[in-house]
This record gives sequence, C-alpha cells and structure tokens, in this order.
Amino acid sequence: MEEKIKKIRSMIRDVPDFPKKGILFKDITTALLDAQTLKLSVDCIYDVFKDKKIDYIAGIESRGFIYGMPLAYKFNCGFVPIRKPNKLPCEVISEEYDLEYGKDRIEIHKDALKKTDRILIVDDLLATGGTALAAINLIKKVANPVGISFVIELENLGGRQKLPQDVEVFSLVKY
Ligand code: AMP
Repeated sequence: MEEKIKKIRSMIRDVPDFPKKGILFKDITTALLDAQTLKLSVDCIYDVFKDKKIDYIAGIESRGFIYGMPLAYKFNCGFVPIRKPNKLPCEVISEEYDLEYGKDRIEIHKDALKKTDRILIVDDLLATGGTALAAINLIKKVANPVGISFVIELENLGGRQKLPQDVEVFSLVKY
C-alpha cells in the first residue's frame, strides 16, 4: 500500500493561492489524467471497504462523483448523488451546514435509500470536515453510513475529529 500511496501522492499537483490568496489547492486533475494513478486510487479505496457489505456509494458533488462512480462499478452496486441545492428533480431531504461565510445545503432524493442500506460516502478531499459531516448527517436520516473515503486529507485542519466515531474514515494521501 505504501508504494501505491507514494505514487498517488506524486501525481497530486499543488497550486498556491487558488482559489484565493493563502490557499494551497490540491489539484487532483493531474492524478486523474494518469491511468495508472486513477486505477490505483480507486482500487486502494475499494480494498479498504470491500468486506463491509456496501449496498450503495454516495458521491458528494462534484469531485465525489469522479471517484464515486468507478467505485460503484467496482463494488457492483448503485450510486447515489449527494447534490447541491435545487439540482434534484424529485422530493429531497437536505442537510444544512456552515461555510466560512454563510450556510450551504446538500440534498439527496428522499426515495433513494432505505434505513438498512449500508452506504460508503465518497469525496475527493477532507479539509475542515464541514461537508463530510453534513453528508454523514444527511445519510443518517435515511440509511446507514458505514464509511467515508477521501483521496486527500489535510490533517492540520482537524476534519477527522469532527466526524462521528461510528463511521469509518479513510483517506489515501495525508498532508
Ligand atoms: P471541507 O468541508 O472544509 O472539508 O472542504 C471539503 C471540500 O472543499 C472538498 O471536497 C474539496 O473539494 C474542497 N477543498 C477544500 N480545501 C481544499 C484544498 N486545499 N484543495 C482542494 N480542494 C479543497
């Protein structure tokens, strides 16, 4: 695993001062371009959760969709989009969360899941954990979130500590 993670790490591009001054943006597009890295990333996450009886992958818009879909294919299970407000056409349930300035909301279709469904939530990056916590709380309203996975974790922002203990948190590359 260590060698694979080293390879994935080497393909993530650092972009200073994006989208604003002082932010070091972790750019996954370079890790997506490289076929071997893309496959390694998906396979490593799959290996961690393969025995957890996952029924559905729930991907967080929008970069969670990128990794979530190949994972659903690999798990041979369905995919549930966790979307930004007013994107889903049918009745939704939502969860609000705090941003640096103001609030945001994520939504899923109300009829997508049932209480006993075991869900792996997928996103690209764990920073402050606000988005991840909202996604877990959202899924908890309708199903059983057993795990959440990220390609990148920014450990100094303490996101992991915000997440509930009953959900397995996995990240591939830690900074
Ligand atoms: P947070 O809610 O703070 O954990 O932020 C999560 C989302 O913000 C992730 O899904 C990323 O897409 C994005 N994000 C936050 N910080 C960064 C960063 N330094 N580089 C790239 N994306 C980031």
